[in-house]
Amino acid sequence: MTNQKQKAFQFVDDHRDEMVSLWQEVVMMEGGPHEKEGINKVADRFKKILDDEGAISRTVDFEKAGSTLIAELGENNSKPGVIFLGHMDTAIAAGATAERPFTIKDGKAYGPGVLDMKGGIVAALYAIKALKSIGYNARPIKVLLAGDEEVLHANSNTPDVLMKEATGYGAAFNVETGFVDDGIVVGRKGVARVMMEVKGVAAHAGNDPENGRSAILEIAHKIIDVQGLTDWEKGITFNVGVMQGGTTSTAVPEHAKIFIDVRYKNPDDLSYFMNQLEGVGNKTYIEGTSTTVTYMDGMKPMKTTDGVKQLFEVVKEAYEENGFGSPYAKLVGGASDSAYSVLAGVPTVCAMGVKGGRNHSPEEYAIVDSLYERAKLLIACVLKLDKI
Ligand SMILES: [Zn+2]
Repeated sequence: MTNQKQKAFQFVDDHRDEMVSLWQEVVMMEGGPHEKEGINKVADRFKKILDDEGAISRTVDFEKAGSTLIAELGENNSKPGVIFLGHMDTAIAAGATAERPFTIKDGKAYGPGVLDMKGGIVAALYAIKALKSIGYNARPIKVLLAGDEEVLHANSNTPDVLMKEATGYGAAFNVETGFVDDGIVVGRKGVARVMMEVKGVAAHAGNDPENGRSAILEIAHKIIDVQGLTDWEKGITFNVGVMQGGTTSTAVPEHAKIFIDVRYKNPDDLSYFMNQLEGVGNKTYIEGTSTTVTYMDGMKPMKTTDGVKQLFEVVKEAYEENGFGSPYAKLVGGASDSAYSVLAGVPTVCAMGVKGGRNHSPEEYAIVDSLYERAKLLIACVLKLDKI
């Protein structure tokens, strides 16, 4: 097998230039939030590459969101398959590629989505090509690439699609943004965005303030209540990040609303804290006001299951054996689609993509050498699965 692994590694090294040019090509396609057309162009490009490797592929399309690409390779179903997971959309608004085209300087690549997460997908595709080149057929391989992760799948049922497609698989590698300190993500908090809206009674602040019912005063009390719900022990935090209300200082405000960001560790806690927020909503401080609580969108947490821990050990071994450094198991607050493969019962590790920093900012960069290293790491991990 070592020989096979070396051959696959050699394949990666022989295709370094091709990998970088594909990276450049897909970064330049853009595809930020709400750019369905650009995202779907990226999906078509990846689909073609996988089809050329003999994949059976299809897209799940949505009216107001980027498509999900699903591709399956390999006919040997004797063992549970391997999933490469990721997303094709970026968090960067339209027009960014004109301002900041893909460039390489001092061993770092720059451009919108270069790190988050087009580099990781290129690494995964070349890991697959390399595995195919050595005749790998021990397990089926599935590629699952979402097209609307950065908008939390607000206009699609992508999480359901991912869970359905992942069910029954043996391991998933999410080629999300890799960390320069070699942290491999084994757990992520979930996020929920909730709106609380108060309707009061408008009145002239000078002529009849006594007939007004201030929506702002009501929500002021509720902001304090919401912030007070934070439970460090349970790992649930509340952040009132946006407040809006009123029209002019001369009127008792009729409307006020807040947007709350909730982070949580346990997928089952969603209904628990929504009930708590409903409780705050139902309590009235200023008589004559009414409050509604609306779940806007969100992503479930990635739970650190025993399967996740076991898969991390496989990654750690592969990492160390091949001289890539020494990784550690990392827990982060930001959500990803790894939540859904884990919910489907599939051991998953996240942040397996190219390494870099400054995600979601104009300074976003990725280390070019990590493109090849991560492709090799993925190869080594997949080959190692057959030992366990
Ligand atoms: Zn991402």
